[in-house]
Amino acid sequence: MTTTSDRSTDVLIGGGGFAGLALAIALRQALGNSFRVVVADPAIGRSYGGDGRASAIAAAARRLFETLGVWDKVADGAQPILDMVVTDSKLQDAVRPVFLSFAGEIEPGEPFAHMIENHVLIGALVERAKADGVELRASAVSGFQYRTDDHGPNPRPEKGRNETRVSKRVGVTLAAGDTVSTRLLVAADGARSAIREAAGIACVGWNYGQSGIVTTVAHERDHHGRAEEHFLPPGPFAILPLKGRRSSIVWTEEAHEAERIVALPDDAFHDELESRFGLKLGDIEVVGPRAAYPLGLSVARSFVGERLALVGDAAHVIHPIAGQGLNLGLRDVAALAEAVVDAARLGLDPGGADVLERYQHWRRFDTLSMGIATDGLNRLFSNRSDALRILRDIGLGMVERLPPLKGFFIREAAGLTGEVPKLLKGEAL
Ligand SMILES: Cc1cc2nc3c(=O)[nH]c(=O)nc-3n(C[C@H](O)[C@H](O)[C@H](O)COP(=O)(O)OP(=O)(O)OC[C@H]3O[C@@H](n4cnc5c(N)ncnc54)[C@H](O)[C@@H]3O)c2cc1C
Repeated sequence: MTTTSDRSTDVLIGGGGFAGLALAIALRQALGNSFRVVVADPAIGRSYGGDGRASAIAAAARRLFETLGVWDKVADGAQPILDMVVTDSKLQDAVRPVFLSFAGEIEPGEPFAHMIENHVLIGALVERAKADGVELRASAVSGFQYRTDDHGPNPRPEKGRNETRVSKRVGVTLAAGDTVSTRLLVAADGARSAIREAAGIACVGWNYGQSGIVTTVAHERDHHGRAEEHFLPPGPFAILPLKGRRSSIVWTEEAHEAERIVALPDDAFHDELESRFGLKLGDIEVVGPRAAYPLGLSVARSFVGERLALVGDAAHVIHPIAGQGLNLGLRDVAALAEAVVDAARLGLDPGGADVLERYQHWRRFDTLSMGIATDGLNRLFSNRSDALRILRDIGLGMVERLPPLKGFFIREAAGLTGEVPKLLKGEAL
């Protein structure tokens, strides 16, 4: 049981996506060079431009990126969402009346969200992480085991006792072949987290039998920062403004129909898209790759284990109906970073049970509420029942006419309700 490791670190993060990199940067900036952080990801540094995806970054998440010094590198490429309209109709309806509209600011001059292409944000995070001294390893985490490291005899033993100093750590095996010993292992390795599985943490949830088709279109006229969400019977069809005369499409269909649509020849795909997009922005042209992502709800039964924390999609996957998946992951990052930093500054063990319990307590309820909310919205809107349509349209009409309720939804979408961790308020740790 006494072993020596090839390398040692304070925190090892498996997964260098948005969540893993943001956490690494936050820890290094708050705790300095003496606090070692390694991020291991086989895809690190690889161009993320290929999948053509973009994300809605809520105001709270933008504040986190600002505080970490990442936002100024991407701000030019980020499109503020200046207003949003919601419609609820059948595909063949000639007119789609607007049931709900939001002006897009939570504070004067602060939009509730921005759209940004994923590869732009990931590129900026990798650069920031390197500049902050995060060690990036282009290798997967292939396993881990608990170990007790022997640090030799205590130079100041208690009288009459012959003590050795030992510490409990995690020995993390990388696919490259070496082992890194760490005080805290963080699983940020996405929805199919191998680390979560190796820890034996199960998930609860279900598949929606739907897929989200994602692509990018260019259009003749300006979108003026308007986002649209059309609730059609198979699921929401979202048009999200990107910089320039372009929009990102997130288009939910039943899984088998999505497969058919994605495989269509270019002309036929364009026609399917246009029948949903409409002609209000003039002619449209598909300018990005298209892909379909299976959609489901999944929440880990525990967000922590011994010297282990789960963040981002490794901890939870939700329906993209409200564009909140990544934002939820960044809330994990902000909460875990705050818990670890507070402990480390007091000289406490960053992988200690108290730190992890504080993190789990902070995040599980919020995650479950968001999971239930997106699940409910999807069930309410993704169906063909006329009776339900009348009911939900009355609901949308009420929200539209009640400014305080509308204000609450905007702040909720911006990620600014509940017990908000410091980084999401724009405060440094
Ligand atoms: C159609 C669609 C639209 C969406 N739109 C939005 C939106 O508008 N706004 C929003 O907030 N969210 C959105 N989301 C959700 C968002 O994309 C995810 O929540 C987010 O990408 C999760 O980030 P992550 O860092 O947790 O995981 P990921 O981005 O999945 O990153 C995981 C990383 O782990 C690495 N990895 C995998 N296995 C290992 C291993 N064994 N060891 C080491 N590394 C490993 C991978 O290479 C990857 O880089 C959308 C999702 C979908 C499907």
